Amino acid sequence: PDKDKFVNAPDTDYSRKVLREKAQQALAKVKDSLGKTYFPLINGEYVQTEVIIDSVNPSKSSELVGQIGLISVEQAEQALNAAKAAFNAWKKTPASERARILRKAGDLMEERRHELSAWICVEVGKILQQADAEVSEAIDFCRYYASEMERLDKGYSYDVAGETNRYHYQPRGIALVISPWNFPFAIATGMTVAALVTGNCTLLKPAETSTVIAAKIAEILVDAGIPKGVFQLVPGKGSQVGAYMVNHPDVHVIAFTGSREVGCRIYADAAILQPGQKHLKRVIAEMGGKNAIIVDESSDLDQAVAGAVFSAFGYSGQKCSAASRIIVLNPVYDAFLERFVEATRSLNIGPTDEPSTQVGPVIDATAQKRIREYIAIAKQESTLALEMESPENGYYVGPTIFGDVLPTHTIAQEEIFGPVVAVMRVKDFDEALAVANGTDYALTGGLYSRSPEHIERAQKEFEVGNLYINRTITGAIVSRQPFGGFKLSGVGSKAGGPDYLLQFLEPRHVTENI
Ligand code: GLU
Repeated sequence: PDKDKFVNAPDTDYSRKVLREKAQQALAKVKDSLGKTYFPLINGEYVQTEVIIDSVNPSKSSELVGQIGLISVEQAEQALNAAKAAFNAWKKTPASERARILRKAGDLMEERRHELSAWICVEVGKILQQADAEVSEAIDFCRYYASEMERLDKGYSYDVAGETNRYHYQPRGIALVISPWNFPFAIATGMTVAALVTGNCTLLKPAETSTVIAAKIAEILVDAGIPKGVFQLVPGKGSQVGAYMVNHPDVHVIAFTGSREVGCRIYADAAILQPGQKHLKRVIAEMGGKNAIIVDESSDLDQAVAGAVFSAFGYSGQKCSAASRIIVLNPVYDAFLERFVEATRSLNIGPTDEPSTQVGPVIDATAQKRIREYIAIAKQESTLALEMESPENGYYVGPTIFGDVLPTHTIAQEEIFGPVVAVMRVKDFDEALAVANGTDYALTGGLYSRSPEHIERAQKEFEVGNLYINRTITGAIVSRQPFGGFKLSGVGSKAGGPDYLLQFLEPRHVTENI
């Protein structure tokens, strides 16, 4: 068998006692090493900073996870200069060598799997099982993009008699990666290693609330042998240092995952040609969703209820793939709503280091406040079907369900990014599709149905990047469900798919007359 053939890394099987024990030991060890300070990595050195901020455990906001040094604009400039200096050698490094470093990083992640899951659990409030899936996804990104780069590196030949025609790819230059806190390990790793393996010098600016995990990514890349200046960790204030780097004339590619507001701003700012800039920037932006699941009268309601609960409340609804609208056909609406409410009511809400917890906190106090405001608006507009209690000493919001939500209501249109679901009643399948498609977004969507006609229509007419039929709508797996949307959900091709790396490359063609 081909040792470099891509195979997905399996998640931990927590039904095995020995693995559960290992995970608990790793968690205890991580809890013993909380509160350390993490510094930016610039030109191969961890550098001191003037500003240091706290990262706390959202499950228990009095618990300090770590302190993070934020870079200044001058340090951003130093990092960009170091990247420029390192580019020539990295560009010339064979793709196979770059791929080897990625595979090594993937192996190191595999070795440190339980520890990494524990850090994700405490820094962003994700339950271990979902943190573990994130580690698998990050490993997959390393290995898959390594093999993808080797595939692309072969290029294409279009030779004819007397003339060779060779098509090949080269790196673009400097890539800026701006990563989100909700998949602090997988998405940050995915965007970063895609930029690196294609030969770009890469700066990672993680979301402030997940910088400790980003520091672990830096540690792993350094241990895997990434040269200095080629990868740099540049945590900083988005509005100041982030904006400075986005606007910088030396940046070629910006890979962003986060809110629609910030994504649109980056897209606009990156389009402005700066003095001295001799290229146009490429922006890849993965933004929000207002994802719907359609439940029709032929569906298996047990399956639909379980799928809706997991898709809506997994990681407290803080995935851009999460279900926030459930569109139910009238004949099954009442039965569905009742069962959906009862199934949700049985969820355990609590700190994510408790093995029995199914729904943890939201990321921070700002998010908690914003979500509560949406709940207050929804109470005015539609009918509250369930509002669960939640613990006090962290940033919790109990799962909340509204019924009889109309397409014009605020919670049917705006992304809330929390555990709040709008259940909507429609008369037939035409209306279901019209309502599903009636937002600014097109990221994920789901259908529960046993009707071949409805399934076929959804495939053609349900306008989303990733459509899931008779299953949950989150949890895309690398190279199995390449992930990403369109409309205002984002611009660029799908992560973990065959077109992704092309965005970081410049195609060139050479014709030789022989
Ligand atoms: N890829 C993730 C999933 O399929 C979602 C990514 C995100 O929330 O940004 O659930």
